[in-house]
Amino acid sequence: MNALEVHQIPCLTDNYGYLVHDPVSGETACIDTPDAQAILAALASRGWRLSEIWNTHHHPDHAGGNLAVKQATGCRIVAPAAEAARIAGVDRSVVEGEAVSLGEHRFTVLETPGHTSGHIVYWCEAQRLAFVGDTLFAMGCGRLFEGTPAQMWSSLQKLRRWPEDTLLYCAHEYTQSNARFALSVEPDNAVLQARAAEVDAARRRGEPTVPSRLGDELATNPFLRADVPAFRASLGMAEAAPVEVFARARAGKDAFRG
Ligand code: ZN
Ligand code: FE
Repeated sequence: MNALEVHQIPCLTDNYGYLVHDPVSGETACIDTPDAQAILAALASRGWRLSEIWNTHHHPDHAGGNLAVKQATGCRIVAPAAEAARIAGVDRSVVEGEAVSLGEHRFTVLETPGHTSGHIVYWCEAQRLAFVGDTLFAMGCGRLFEGTPAQMWSSLQKLRRWPEDTLLYCAHEYTQSNARFALSVEPDNAVLQARAAEVDAARRRGEPTVPSRLGDELATNPFLRADVPAFRASLGMAEAAPVEVFARARAGKDAFRG
């Protein structure tokens, strides 16, 4: 099948909006609406017509531009059923296992509660890409505003099962500070050291560090490594349950200043 085109839109302080376009059908979706004006400008620059908004969760930096974008484009809005009452303009609410599509391309919806109680991600297995919102960041994960460590750990394990060459499009450029925290908990991880240096170099050049490959996250992201022996040993938690290791790492990140 033909390739989908992804257009990345840096906006607000550190958000990324995305347009994903199928050149065969001409359909375009926008993942979240952090900044309506930036999204409309990106559509105009590409000459793309927006078919749908796919929301990941209800936070204002993800759904705040919904009505302005819908009014300007006439698009439909797809959003998580569990948060539809907290998201403006929803036309279709979706649950785990449902699909959204762009022409012939199918994206599977997975529920990943933790950051918010109804957060979802959109996964296109055939194209090896996923839009993961604030569930997983490059070398990080979302803060637990509405969920427990057990929920988030189980959500992240869904993502971990995807093919390693899957590209993960997250919603924030938090990678440098995430890398500093990751190094603080696993200083001897050589892959992590190398990746952190690459990230610093990319940021010095003004380049985004998103998307990232799942395989690289598995090797370096502390929040995917709670059951990896080297990581557990580094935290002095070799005997603890993975969810406890995850909870310790998440609490450590919340308190981390560096
Ligand atoms: Zn959020
Ligand atoms: Fe966010």
